[in-house]
Amino acid sequence: VKKKASRYEKQAQPVKQTAVLGAGIMGGGIAYQSASKGTPILMKDIKDEAIELGLKEARKLFTKQVERKKLSTEQMAEKLSNIRPTLSYGDFGNVDLVVEAVVENPKVKGAVLAEVEDAVSENTILTSNTSTISINRLAENLKRPENFCGMHFFNPVHRMPLVEVIRGEKTSDAAVAATVAYARAMGKTPIVVNDCPGFLVNRVLFPYFGGFSFLVEQGADFQHIDKVMEKFGWPMGPAYLLDVVGLDTAVHANEVMAEGFPDRMAREGKTAIQVMYDNDRLGQKNDKGFYAYE
Ligand code: NAD
Repeated sequence: VKKKASRYEKQAQPVKQTAVLGAGIMGGGIAYQSASKGTPILMKDIKDEAIELGLKEARKLFTKQVERKKLSTEQMAEKLSNIRPTLSYGDFGNVDLVVEAVVENPKVKGAVLAEVEDAVSENTILTSNTSTISINRLAENLKRPENFCGMHFFNPVHRMPLVEVIRGEKTSDAAVAATVAYARAMGKTPIVVNDCPGFLVNRVLFPYFGGFSFLVEQGADFQHIDKVMEKFGWPMGPAYLLDVVGLDTAVHANEVMAEGFPDRMAREGKTAIQVMYDNDRLGQKNDKGFYAYE
């Protein structure tokens, strides 16, 4: 942890209009959270179906709030109207802060970030929700790397309090300040961390997934491991958590970690997690992972 997040807050420029790129598990969750706390957000994807899914998820979460009498239907409609779905960068000119949440692939993210940089104003802060890819590496594609940092939410966004704000070598204090302030406005607890593959949480989490994978490859029963970790006191075991994260995202993130820390993270042969992915068992996103879902 580099510096207390609160140190930056005094310098924060107001974040009034935001945008998220990608309407998947994370993009949909970020849009919901921003909208529910009153900050308007454009939600951009390249596919109509993805936008529909993102909106459906947001609607589901707001409906639960109505059922629990925490929101009226009018309030729900008002909050939902904070999310504006789009397939284009047309309205990005007056966006204060963008969260990029597309697939965990350095090339795709690099291209998307360069593209959005051309669509926003010179002062717009760009952030990436990457799980593992170094912020310095992603900044290489940008003309204004000082306006860029990591903004790493956890899944499910509406329930997980932590947000890692990752400061790259060229990131300005103003960019960190705006990102910290936005995270707080979303009701989250930001921490400012240094840049490296996996940042802080995934430096801990991915070796744990690796240990789990080894056990399964050696014949352990994944359900048994999950039950043991729950008894240990964790809210869920590693197999279930991988289903929540998405096996595709876990495989891509692990590749980045293996490249960054070959001595510790690179493996010979296929891991159990890779085998699941190869068999199109992506977790809850396609209803089949370690467990089957309806
Ligand atoms: P996902 O597969 O659910 O969603 C990715 C979305 O990005 C899809 O809807 C896809 O259509 C869209 N997309 C692809 N190219 C695009 C482009 N050029 N422009 C706009 N949209 C585009 O993935 P996810 O789980 O939401 O992960 C997104 C990011 O968040 C990744 O970087 C991932 O590492 C990170 N992340 C994931 C988790 C998790 O638990 N799943 C947690 C924290 C961070």
